[in-house]
Amino acid sequence: MSDAAIVVCPHCHAPNRVPAARLADGGTCGKCKAPLFAGQPVELGAANFDEHVGRSDIPVLVDFWAPWCGPCRSMAPAFAQAARQLEPEFRLAKVNTEDEQALAARFGIRSIPTLALFRNGREVARQAGAMDLASLVRWVRNQG
Ligand SMILES: [Zn+2]
Repeated sequence: MSDAAIVVCPHCHAPNRVPAARLADGGTCGKCKAPLFAGQPVELGAANFDEHVGRSDIPVLVDFWAPWCGPCRSMAPAFAQAARQLEPEFRLAKVNTEDEQALAARFGIRSIPTLALFRNGREVARQAGAMDLASLVRWVRNQG
């Protein structure tokens, strides 16, 4: 592992260079002073998706969901809790596929919820269907 990582601010979306040794402390954004890890998923859309997924040195787990999807809504609390358990090793993000249909099409999302894990901008794993908190955390950690 290199000695510093690019962490994209969940609030203003500015990339921050964080020394690896200080990742666990979280730290604050150099631009907007907000915490870099707030223990909750960040909402992504066409305007900021590539900024996060493409620039982040931290793997990004994206929940592709929609408001009308019952299983998506049921999984939301577990996904939010997973953010508290998986940060700062992972960034958790949500894409509302109803508002962001171009992103859903770009990644060929056919069923929701779909979880996709991105590392250095590339999708490395995908899982369709809702998971409970324990399964979700285990699945993410098992992706190496
Ligand atoms: Zn910021």
